[in-house]
Amino acid sequence: MNEERLPAAFTAAMKEMLGQEADAFLHSYSLPRTQSLRFNTLKSIYAGAPAEHSVSLFSLTSVPWCSTGYYYEDPARPGRHPYHAAGLYYIQEPSAMSAAELLAPLPGETVLDLAAAPGGKTTHLASLMQGQGLLVSNEIHAERAKILAENVERLGISHALVTSAAPGELSRRFPEVFDRIMLDAPCSGEGMFRKDPSAMSEWSPDHVKMCAERQWDILQDAYIMLKPGGSMVYSTCTFNRLENEDTVSRFTAAYPDMKVVTQKRLWPHLEKGEGHFVALLHKAAASGSVETDSRGKKRSGGKSKNGPRVHASLRDAYQQFLGWAATELPGFTGGGIPLLFGESLYLLPEAFNERLHTGLLEGLKVPRAGLHIAHLKKNRIEPAHALAMSLQPGQAARHYDLAADSPELQAWLRGESLPVPPELHGWTLVTVEGLPVSWGKASLGQLKNHLPKGLRIQKAHLEEA
Ligand code: SAM
Repeated sequence: MNEERLPAAFTAAMKEMLGQEADAFLHSYSLPRTQSLRFNTLKSIYAGAPAEHSVSLFSLTSVPWCSTGYYYEDPARPGRHPYHAAGLYYIQEPSAMSAAELLAPLPGETVLDLAAAPGGKTTHLASLMQGQGLLVSNEIHAERAKILAENVERLGISHALVTSAAPGELSRRFPEVFDRIMLDAPCSGEGMFRKDPSAMSEWSPDHVKMCAERQWDILQDAYIMLKPGGSMVYSTCTFNRLENEDTVSRFTAAYPDMKVVTQKRLWPHLEKGEGHFVALLHKAAASGSVETDSRGKKRSGGKSKNGPRVHASLRDAYQQFLGWAATELPGFTGGGIPLLFGESLYLLPEAFNERLHTGLLEGLKVPRAGLHIAHLKKNRIEPAHALAMSLQPGQAARHYDLAADSPELQAWLRGESLPVPPELHGWTLVTVEGLPVSWGKASLGQLKNHLPKGLRIQKAHLEEA
């Protein structure tokens, strides 16, 4: 894009901020945007060959600040390759990869991603956590939370809970619960103008002020939920000081137990990436009681003395699933607390119950209460798509593998059934070079397609790939 299209007030503010460097900064707008993907280590630990193949297929080169991040250039289209549908990687702007790297969550921790859709940082955090512990991924807007849940499923993440709540609703339930919090705040998006010029249409100095106020509000809720001794990353994709350094200093001034460990800007004229701001903050181990925070919010978190109540219908449903899994998923090891929402059976990560209790979910919108394992049909179990995506091929009693460049795989991703050897019978994990893409059900030489309708690919889309 051309720098002449930038809002005049934005250009003036950047010239003032950058002085002599402004020319180089403004010139970056006439260069192509950067494109990159990040491998999903939850998959590639057992799928070395597809990951290696991707490196040559898309001519990938390393992103210096993220060991799993790789640049690609036009005309590569990894987002349209079946490896993408199989969750082998996530398309993510390179500078955005710096936030989860900085937060560096550890396997087994309790982590919150407070503004998580569409899921770039959540999927990165899940990889770094190696699928262990508890990740709560929250998105306030219901439609965006749906996309977040789809990405969490596509990447086969089983230890995440997807919620859709305002930060205040969460902080009432989860005070001092999280070891680490990612707050990738809604912002004025100045750093995205090159990648997505439509981001300029909403920009104005007033919008920047509104964003800074909203960030301040959300930060206070994040504070309430952070454990003493815990860490938080505050990030934005804007250059504006008001939303970045000024918001961070307002926050640390109001909460003296919060200290800035480091803060950093990623500039498009200095790095190969779009604009980003990341700050790592640490909460002192002996903080004041949450009962006395500045907004006097009612507190309700903590571990229940009683275990979860298991209703008869839930017990029956889970028994039914275990019966099904005993023959169909001999290698299934998934632990967790069974939960029933209507006809959907979930496994809530074990870590949730060790540290919290299911009563805290009452009245909360939870699009995905952990791993969706099954749909209950009249007298039978149908395995859920999310379960397929979280498996390794060896865990299912049967799997049927297709090559990434085969016409059969293209037909499968469009939702068509496939002819298969007649001896194949029953629920079958369909894989592309070892990576699950969906369930199929084999009977009488046909493999019926159970890829959810919303995920099926249009013919034209595949041809363009
Ligand atoms: N972390 C995401 C990722 O890496 O894919 C991107 C998050 S985006 C920068 C900010 C998110 O904040 C948006 O999804 C937006 O819907 C959400 N949001 C908007 N208003 C909010 C509010 N008042 N509280 C919390 N989140 C909000």
